[in-house]
Amino acid sequence: MGIKIYNSLSRQMEDFVPLNPEHVSIYSCGPTVYDYIHMGNARTALVTDIIRRYLEYRGYTVKLVQNLTDIDDKIINRAAELGVSAKQLAQQNGDAFFEDSQRLGIHPADVHPKATEHIPEMISLIQTLLEKGVAYVIDGSVYYRVNRFDSYGKLSNRKPEDLLAGARVEIDERKEDPRDFDMWKAAKPGEPSWESPWGRGRPGWHIECSAMAMKHLGTTLDIHVGGEDLRFPHHENEIAQSEMATGSTFAHYWIHIAFLNIDGRRMGKSEHNFILLRDALDNYPTEVIRHFLISAHYRHPLDYNRESLMKSEGAFRRLSNCLDALKKYDGQLATDETTTSPLQHAVQEMKSQFTDAMDTDFNTAQALGAIFTLVSEVNRSLSAKNGTPPAVFAQAYHALNETCQVLGIYDAEAQDRDGDNVEQRDNLINLLLEIRQDARSRKDWDTSDKIRDRLKELDIEIQDTREGATWKIVS
Ligand SMILES: [Zn+2]
Repeated sequence: MGIKIYNSLSRQMEDFVPLNPEHVSIYSCGPTVYDYIHMGNARTALVTDIIRRYLEYRGYTVKLVQNLTDIDDKIINRAAELGVSAKQLAQQNGDAFFEDSQRLGIHPADVHPKATEHIPEMISLIQTLLEKGVAYVIDGSVYYRVNRFDSYGKLSNRKPEDLLAGARVEIDERKEDPRDFDMWKAAKPGEPSWESPWGRGRPGWHIECSAMAMKHLGTTLDIHVGGEDLRFPHHENEIAQSEMATGSTFAHYWIHIAFLNIDGRRMGKSEHNFILLRDALDNYPTEVIRHFLISAHYRHPLDYNRESLMKSEGAFRRLSNCLDALKKYDGQLATDETTTSPLQHAVQEMKSQFTDAMDTDFNTAQALGAIFTLVSEVNRSLSAKNGTPPAVFAQAYHALNETCQVLGIYDAEAQDRDGDNVEQRDNLINLLLEIRQDARSRKDWDTSDKIRDRLKELDIEIQDTREGATWKIVS
């Protein structure tokens, strides 16, 4: 069986056939950097990361492009509130986005284009659309003429009437049709602006993504990913602009990631009910947050609450205890090719269930189910001492490590590094205590106190007891 993707465009499950049999191109709409990202944004970023990791696991090379929208009304307004420049605010929040993504274990995209660094590409795309009669200029702004694109509404499955009724269309008397949207906004006083054939101004949000996607991935890409809220009008408009400009299909597969809810409502900045990713990462390990965010299939809503995170915490503990126990079998080779044991069967079963689940529209919830079924089997075999050959435990260890790495919910190397770091820290503190003891025997109280006080500043508290000095970490 090959990979199947639920294509938002056809509203059907489809066989995944990339343009090039070995390479996959993915464009993901990145954040508008006016603030830190919240857990809802993190869900979209994480699912994209896992789709990419899984495609690589299945042998594809992937080129992922994820943009940063670094010029936008929200950025301009927030910068004005804070009394900083839009550029400065976008830079700070862009840096924070990369920092948060890295903490969540998200691999960087191959290209992270910034809108402000692609103005010439946007201008030339708009010019093409003007030449084709699909756009018009009013007072230095350029609008897209929606009625020229017959398939407008194909992604969001809206008929022209619905588009008018349902959409929050900007009231602008100057537009030919209320559905028309701006690709270039004439400069307003005090706002950042760029030179263009229509006077100074700045790009609209939709043209940014069309231009950056096609610049870095060509006129047709395999997969376009984004949050559910971007389907209309953002993605609909991306299609309209790109397909009218090139005459080619813009993206073959559209993947939309459902909302993260909190108290039954969508988590969002406008709802004032969000949890910042960085705050969540201060309270829970990366693997726990990742486990939680993929514990539901990406097309299903997921509810953020303490119980769910505690469940993910428990799951992570079970997983790491199991892998810790299995680790000593790592490197055990099978001595007898014909060895069969129930655990060996369970390992094979897990691998094929994992692949089936992920092949079926990246069903991470089911993939986790397969992994944790094997964890239970391993624990049973470990405690039963029923003569499971060490080589089979080694197989289980490898299979779990490999699949967990695709999901990023356990990283054996990082765990080892953490373990090594802790050991090294302990050795260093003990060394300082020895030096302090030597100083005390020389009655060098200055050195002794200095070591105690400086360690205290690092939250390490020394206690002098009859048996010698001990230490503990305080916070
Ligand atoms: Zn976009």
